[in-house]
Amino acid sequence: MNKKSLLALTLFLVLLASTAPLRAAEVVVYSARNEHLIQPLFDRFTGETGIRVKFITDQAGALVQRIRSEGRRTQADLFITVDAGNLWYAADQGLLQPVKSPTLEENIPSHLRDPEGRWFGLSVRARTIVYSTDRVDPADLSTYEALGGPEWRGRLLLRTSKKVYNQSLVAMLIADHGVEKTERIVRSWVGNLAVDPLSNDTKVMEAILAGQGDVGIVNTYYYGRLSREDPELPLALFWPDQNGGGVHVNVSGAGVTRHARHREEAVRLLEWLSSSSAQGIFAEANLEYPANPGIEPHPAVKAWGTFKQSGMNLARAGELQGEAIRLMDRAGYR
Ligand code: FE
Repeated sequence: MNKKSLLALTLFLVLLASTAPLRAAEVVVYSARNEHLIQPLFDRFTGETGIRVKFITDQAGALVQRIRSEGRRTQADLFITVDAGNLWYAADQGLLQPVKSPTLEENIPSHLRDPEGRWFGLSVRARTIVYSTDRVDPADLSTYEALGGPEWRGRLLLRTSKKVYNQSLVAMLIADHGVEKTERIVRSWVGNLAVDPLSNDTKVMEAILAGQGDVGIVNTYYYGRLSREDPELPLALFWPDQNGGGVHVNVSGAGVTRHARHREEAVRLLEWLSSSSAQGIFAEANLEYPANPGIEPHPAVKAWGTFKQSGMNLARAGELQGEAIRLMDRAGYR
């Protein structure tokens, strides 16, 4: 080797050595939330921190299955999904690890996160009553339980009990009222149904608009979507249980996987998602409420009014999910 090529080789090696540590830090996310909801956030996170975010999206159940079967070899550092029932299940399967973070504890109210720190709510949706403004006087509405009263016979619309949203709602009712009373409530709902349970929340509202029934139970953002399309929609939201346990809320959220290779970056992303930089965007993209109470909801969401929400820890929605499913089955809620 002559002197010139030795110099070139040395230079090459020095360059290689100096660029290697500069390779961008990264974090891998498995997300049950759609790309359009998370991509803008991840771009911003990368811009602020230099940490690259790789992600795949799929159904919650498929992702849980995948993380479980990948075991120690999983690429996933952070799991994002909707509903505390799903987050609880992933944690219960041993797929998430505890995170102790003063930032997360400060930003996220305690009832919206796992007491053991394995998942954290990042946006809040209320599962509340929707009614026809043409045919219902909101003064006649009061509680979830009261939807089982005789004045609602043949007027109530519900989504299928197979959906985790309703399993969580009933689980939280069990946590509030106990099994016996909750079973009475659910039976009375079934007795008041206008038509068989529908496949989604939007269909519940469309059935009210079509005059098939007058009241239903839906997640707030579905109402938000419909009323954005038609601001004159003859539907409104009602906040039940304001003198009792409060409105049933649920979350979308995330947890660090048990075998995360980029644990530090995953915690950083989780903390960032709970911060003011991200909370507004995250909630607004799907017309949800920020989980961080310091952040204002989008004006369209704020226009639905304020309400007292249930302060019960959402882990109960998971713990009582099996009980809720069996109860709904006994009560004939399909
Ligand atoms: Fe949904």
